[in-house]
Amino acid sequence: MSKPIATYSRTKEIMDKHKLSFKKSLGQNFLIDANILKKIVDKAGVTEDTTVIEIGPGIGALTEQLALKAKDVFAIEIDQRFIEVLKDTLQGFQNIQVINEDILKVDLNAFIAEKMPEASDVRVVANLPYYITTPILMKLLMGNSPMHSITVMMQKEVAARMAAKPNSKEYGSLSIAVQYYTTSNVVMNVPKTCFVPQPNVDSSILQLVKRDKPPVDVVDEDLFFEVVQKSFQQRRKTLKNNLQKGFQDRISKEQLQNVFDQAAIEPSRRGESLSMEEFSTLTKFMKEALE
Ligand code: SAM
Repeated sequence: MSKPIATYSRTKEIMDKHKLSFKKSLGQNFLIDANILKKIVDKAGVTEDTTVIEIGPGIGALTEQLALKAKDVFAIEIDQRFIEVLKDTLQGFQNIQVINEDILKVDLNAFIAEKMPEASDVRVVANLPYYITTPILMKLLMGNSPMHSITVMMQKEVAARMAAKPNSKEYGSLSIAVQYYTTSNVVMNVPKTCFVPQPNVDSSILQLVKRDKPPVDVVDEDLFFEVVQKSFQQRRKTLKNNLQKGFQDRISKEQLQNVFDQAAIEPSRRGESLSMEEFSTLTKFMKEALE
């Protein structure tokens, strides 16, 4: 087998051969370390029974490593220029399908039903374009698609926020949104020197395993996420201040105090100190007060 795509020399050779340049606006920072890619594939638990959805194959560095281990790989790439390139770099593989689409516009449930109706183990594995990491993950998590896990490279700070626990400076509404749907775990940090062109920030590989059901019972999911989001509106402010402001048209100060009393939560606390369980309790009494 020839040298992996994920080396500086092959990446340059492929880009030069096809007369291409990197588009910063599409988050094109390609991995040039095959060992890191093998680790991603390994940590993602990809086996010969796995059907992988890859987001943003670029010139195929990760796609190649995935295809060596997986049953099938469906790679969704927005940049039309790479579609021809991928036919060239991935020739010889029978288990790869490349789709020229914007992941944010793909109906994932329909995609999975149409492309992989028989698949028993669907996993998302990707080196994500950093400018849309959060929207991509929210789409994957909230769509209720039949997938086992999501193992993705992203900016280190964003991964830390997604995996953060209460009482840390990274903990916020993003941590709760992600951990409501998944168990999250930073599996490895990756220095910026492993990419070309080199980004300004270091990266981490985050693994999210879908939960069968959320870790807390929530009476109203929309209200739960609204309460969470408003509780972190201004991080340094107390829950009381943030929720008073956030719900000012819908609930009086007295009612809000009553909610805190019923939930047995000190209004002088900050959002960053509340567990998901406590947010769920707060939501229950907020709902009663709003009705
Ligand atoms: N997988 C390659 C690697 O690991 O070297 C490239 C990863 S690069 C960080 C991100 C890739 O996502 C680029 O190929 C970029 O064109 C693609 N991309 C950006 N926005 C996208 C979108 N909305 N939908 C699908 N692919 C996208």
